Amino acid sequence: MNEIGLIGLAVMGQNLALNIARKGYSVSVFNRTSEKTKEFLEERVKNEKIEGYHDIKSFVESLKKPRKIILMVKAGKPVDDVIQELLPYLEKGDLIIDGGNSYFKDTSRRIKELKEKGILYLGMGVSGGEAGALHGPSLMPGGSIEAYEMVKDVLLKIAAQTESGPCCTYVGNDSAGHFVKMVHNGIEYAIMQAISEVYDIMRKILKFSPEEIGDVFERWNNGELNSFLMEISFKIMRYKDEETGKHLVDLILDEAEQKGTGKWTSQTALDLGIPTPSLSLAVEARSLSFFKEDRVKLSGKVKKTYPDVKLDKEKVIKDLENALLFSVFTSFSQGLWLIHEASKTFEYNIDLPEVLRIWKGGCIIRAKILDFLREILNENKENVNLLDSDKSISFLMDKLDSIRYVTNLAKEFYIPTLVLSSSLDYFLSMVEGNLPANLIQAQRDFFGAHTYRRIDKEGIFHTEWEPID
Ligand code: NDP
Repeated sequence: MNEIGLIGLAVMGQNLALNIARKGYSVSVFNRTSEKTKEFLEERVKNEKIEGYHDIKSFVESLKKPRKIILMVKAGKPVDDVIQELLPYLEKGDLIIDGGNSYFKDTSRRIKELKEKGILYLGMGVSGGEAGALHGPSLMPGGSIEAYEMVKDVLLKIAAQTESGPCCTYVGNDSAGHFVKMVHNGIEYAIMQAISEVYDIMRKILKFSPEEIGDVFERWNNGELNSFLMEISFKIMRYKDEETGKHLVDLILDEAEQKGTGKWTSQTALDLGIPTPSLSLAVEARSLSFFKEDRVKLSGKVKKTYPDVKLDKEKVIKDLENALLFSVFTSFSQGLWLIHEASKTFEYNIDLPEVLRIWKGGCIIRAKILDFLREILNENKENVNLLDSDKSISFLMDKLDSIRYVTNLAKEFYIPTLVLSSSLDYFLSMVEGNLPANLIQAQRDFFGAHTYRRIDKEGIFHTEWEPID
């Protein structure tokens, strides 16, 4: 009898199964397409105790009770399909853990439906890609604490280990785990886009080669910007295509794909009324990139006249570093605000500093700055967007001139900076006591009698702005 079952042997499932087995647990695996199970056992399993099954009944029967089954299948309908296939063979008290990028509302529904059948369910965010899954991912399990206790030991062992402990914690009730993973991905989109924007400025304005940009990225990675995404970016800059000998990054089509988690983050932020412009603009940037044909056509119709400026390259690089730090900070701040609001609305009971702690290792957004963010949150856990702290304000104000300069410079050279600019505008909005929303309220009241409030007296007002007949 094996201790853990795992369904779904694509990249994530294979690596996670190996990781679990290498920590000393016996694992049964199953994949819809049997051939993949066979290949996995033949090609990747060496001394690990992993057994493959080709029908779901014998897979379930191979597991110790209460059974613990991890799903690593495509998010959406496949998860429901697999649950339906499993149900006839499961018993009360068995546990299903969905480790895919499921939409949090689907997870809430599944938890409820399975609870009625006596089956426990955890929605667990897994971050770190295939290497993370194999060597130690960041794990974000949510659901009932009872379900978590059943697999806590395994999860803590397979997670990435840092000096502040394993990158796994019980995130919270219900779909808290998948919610946090969704926002993690929203932040990931924003940081990736911000890095791409500074790359664009370096190649188009400073005329740097990928090698030179790689050197700058590596230098940044040794400082405050130290992070997984910075590290892979400098490695990408240096990577040469074997066939052509050219830098591979220069040969890659500029159409960024997406699987939905970034979009869900923005949609949810809009639903909950929390401003996340940098996260949303990162999704928009990917959508814009997809209109390659139109972009190419239109670029031929616009005559671009570039300013004749002599730039101090070292200064521009320093400003770009600051601008990126500013954008990374504000992207995290927006994401954390969203998680905080969701935690209240959906009663997740999420501990935000703990979330930052488990993002420190294994995951795609692991970064040095997380320590600073945790320090700010630990001073005041109700500082939901991190801005209400002298440390945050001083950190951002130190970089304000840089991000202003960089975004202005980019515009002069016709370079879009959706995330850098929106990070700056987010900050400027949040530190502005007098926004022009008074005019919007007046316009709403003018055409739709939507009413408004006043600054000089209490009450709700409506004005006949002009006679309607
Ligand atoms: P995919 O998302 O590409 O999913 C492929 C797996 O799902 C295969 O095992 C496939 O089986 C199975 N599957 C698809 N449809 C069905 C179905 N209807 N019934 C049963 N099984 C089905 O694999 P990944 O390994 O990339 O990701 C797994 C999960 O982890 C996804 O939810 C993904 O979003 C998430 N994730 C992925 C990361 C990554 O870096 N790739 C990082 C973090 C999370 P078959 O072989 O038969 O087609």
